[in-house]
Amino acid sequence: MSFSPLKNLDYSMLQQCMHCGMCLPTCPTYDATKLERSSPRGRIALMRSIADGHLESSRLFAEEMYFCLGCLACETACPAGVDYTRLFEMARWEVERSAKLSSAQRSFWRWAILQTLFTRPGLLRLVGLLLLFYQKSGLQILFRKLGLFRILPRYWQNLEAQTPACASRFSHELIPPLWKIANPRYTVALLTGCVQDLIFSEVNKDCAFVLAQNGCEVHTPPLQHCCGSLHAHNGDMETARNLARKNIDLFPIESIDAIISNAAGCGSHLKHYDKLLEDDTLYADKARVWSAKVKDIHEWLAQIGFAKPVKSASLKKVCYHEACHLCHGQKISRAPREILESIPDLDLVELPEATWCCGSAGVYNFTQPEMSARLLERKMRHIQSTSAATVATANPGCILQLQHGARQRRWPLEITHPISLLADSYRLSS
Ligand code: SF4
Ligand code: SF4
Repeated sequence: MSFSPLKNLDYSMLQQCMHCGMCLPTCPTYDATKLERSSPRGRIALMRSIADGHLESSRLFAEEMYFCLGCLACETACPAGVDYTRLFEMARWEVERSAKLSSAQRSFWRWAILQTLFTRPGLLRLVGLLLLFYQKSGLQILFRKLGLFRILPRYWQNLEAQTPACASRFSHELIPPLWKIANPRYTVALLTGCVQDLIFSEVNKDCAFVLAQNGCEVHTPPLQHCCGSLHAHNGDMETARNLARKNIDLFPIESIDAIISNAAGCGSHLKHYDKLLEDDTLYADKARVWSAKVKDIHEWLAQIGFAKPVKSASLKKVCYHEACHLCHGQKISRAPREILESIPDLDLVELPEATWCCGSAGVYNFTQPEMSARLLERKMRHIQSTSAATVATANPGCILQLQHGARQRRWPLEITHPISLLADSYRLSS
């Protein structure tokens, strides 16, 4: 192995951990196993041993790094300010460089998903259209009734059961490239994402509408690139860096006031473009401007003072699940609650362990189905205890995971984005 990301990392980042263990009770994988190596402190110690040259990247190390959810609960708990986001990305990069998990099948899926599908937005939409045809034509129902999937191994059967329903129209068909308003107070750009665009384009439309209602002129480029978080979190840093450059080139970053993200995982990563491109002589300055302007939509609305809605449809009991990359990755907890609390007749009830990961964690539900299911079970139990009919959460992965949990249990639970609830209330008020 020629290049080692951990050996080339600023060593003080690893030294920052003082082994106090305050992160341990907040870590879902440590909670499940009680193994030191599955804790944040243990993982950092393993990373440091590799950086010191005392340990070679092994299969066990690789599995441990992929057992980590990347939920960043440890980062919130840490009194020493350890940058676990960066350490986690470097460790997974180390794993891929050392090829300790490599197999022909794994390499194929990584190539197909990371390097092909999620680097070509047009191709991703084409796959979305094919999926839509399969779902709307009745083929999916027919195949399920015929039991065709029963010949597949259990893992693939479970995956099939989780196939999300594709949106019938993508974001560019719902949102104009420029949403003009009279006397705008701000000019912003809206990021439509990739999964969000394919499955939750209505959430994007709601966000554009809410921004316009709050005095923002909204630029929404019709075809956008993936933010690259999937790549950075799965050890493909080169593709992550390329996608960051493409996004920076796509948006008029100097002339807008803010770049708005509505997906927690994307927003958390987009705010780190400055670190991702700090050694890129052409892009480092632009990336700094970019990072300073990226705002989560709740954060932005709270910052500019959003208009309080005056009507809502009927009394709704809602609980709020805090997406890890919003509460831990971006430290945004108060603003979404403020928005939900502002909706008349919305009864916001507290969800126990609201900041505990639901097990979605990017593609964790595919790569670690058992641990993911265990976390989902815990989350669903807490949701049930609130007797809320609606769960609000601000990440497409969490919405899909909770929808899957509700389907499995046959619960008529509504899972939605906080901004969609605000948009509904604005529409009633106008
Ligand atoms: S990111 Fe989450 S799972 Fe990973 S070490 Fe930190 S708390 Fe544990
Ligand atoms: S809380 Fe921070 S300093 Fe303490 S063991 Fe965990 S990562 Fe290290």
